[in-house]
Amino acid sequence: MAKSPTQPPTSSAGAHALPSYLDPNHLGPWGVYLQQVDRVTPYLGPLAKWVETLKRPKRALIVDVPIEMDDGSVAHFEGYRVQHNTSRGPAKGGVRYHQDVTLSEVMALSAWMSIKNAAVNVPYGGGKGGIRVDPRTLSPKELERLTRRYTSEIGIIIGPTKDIPAPDVNTNEKVMAWMMDTYSMNIGETATGVVTGKPIDVGGSLGRREATGRGVFTIACEAAARIGLSIDGARVAVQGFGNVGGTAGKLFADAGALVVAVQDHTGGIANDQGLDVPKLLEHVRATGGVAGFKGAEPIQPAEFWGAKCDILIPAALEGQVTKDNAGKIQARMMIEGANGPTTPEADDILNDKGVLVVPDVIANAGGVTVSYFEWVQDFSSFFWTEDEINQRLVQIMKDAFAGVWQTAQQHKVSLRTATFIVACTRILHARDLRGLYP
Ligand code: NAD
Repeated sequence: MAKSPTQPPTSSAGAHALPSYLDPNHLGPWGVYLQQVDRVTPYLGPLAKWVETLKRPKRALIVDVPIEMDDGSVAHFEGYRVQHNTSRGPAKGGVRYHQDVTLSEVMALSAWMSIKNAAVNVPYGGGKGGIRVDPRTLSPKELERLTRRYTSEIGIIIGPTKDIPAPDVNTNEKVMAWMMDTYSMNIGETATGVVTGKPIDVGGSLGRREATGRGVFTIACEAAARIGLSIDGARVAVQGFGNVGGTAGKLFADAGALVVAVQDHTGGIANDQGLDVPKLLEHVRATGGVAGFKGAEPIQPAEFWGAKCDILIPAALEGQVTKDNAGKIQARMMIEGANGPTTPEADDILNDKGVLVVPDVIANAGGVTVSYFEWVQDFSSFFWTEDEINQRLVQIMKDAFAGVWQTAQQHKVSLRTATFIVACTRILHARDLRGLYP
């Protein structure tokens, strides 16, 4: 039997610590987002009159997801789908399965999707979904029943022109295929465009799997060029060697960079001469992690963060770069592959040290950009080659970065604030043009 899904998450501080969303010293993800919006409001000019629009989700749905377990019992899980903003187009964002998912977290993630989609100028608003469940406690059949019931419950607000889910933490192509099938069965026709990140054979896109890592690499090249750093010969450290970190690491190595340190959930490894990335990817595929890779020295976490490198790519989890390790970072620039890897205190430390931080809301937007291509291809039922997809992806990422860079120079602000200025201006300009209904 799955554990009670309504149990609030507790902070790691101890058994008696307050749940994070009741702790007055802990802003929670939605609180962090609100602070970010306050920070950009002075730069929004007359559009600031609409800023409240950004400070509340347009629509938030909480659903009960009851499923029959394999032993015949019935378990109830709590699910969410939040549409933060739809001023620029349908809501768009992933679905997360995790035991600690909260409404506050899903609200914040949906808002960051609004920012990300506007930052790369794809015609979407922001949305996000989640279920409070540890999917590792479910059998494959239970997972399928959970996904299908959740999809039916949120079916009243999703749709190819309304809100388009995608994979996020602990959801994948298979889950997307179930979601697409369930939605299609409910409406009586096959609607491939209701989700992205699907398997290729049911309307998925070539290049989607590598898109986020490719976007991270493209943005790193653009940022490096602006600070006079050559990628050929640059020293790179990567945290997380999965979809995002592994793809980015491979592209850096192909471009002549030395990937000198890698850390994942199994440990850290380093090689001052540069790791053999293709062999490391094979090792990770075979063993599940980087630990034990021959041709590298094992390193401790403190050594990883202090690695002598030019470029640091956090591509694992949120909250990894903190006030405790930010001071050790030697890189000239940090490109956020993960969502929310840097705490606000660490961000300030890095800015003070002069480390160029390229924020997640632009650096990892390659995934949603190719999701957009997938959606366009589904609508036209005409599929593009991988080369076409990669070329268009690179162009969009380069243009988006150029706009953010110019805004940062103009207002003398960090790239994070500049990305928010660009994105919030686009969203609120759309709001202004559309006016208030009724
Ligand atoms: P993944 O599951 O493929 O890889 C995650 C990696 O993080 C693995 O190498 C894992 O070992 C490592 N990791 C996990 N716990 C760790 C820990 N405690 N310390 C160090 N490393 C740890 O996931 P992914 O798709 O590569 O996603 C990574 C990040 O990028 C996430 O924050 C995700 O939200 C973000 N992201 C992913 C996409 C995408 O398209 N996949 C798009 C945008 C953002």
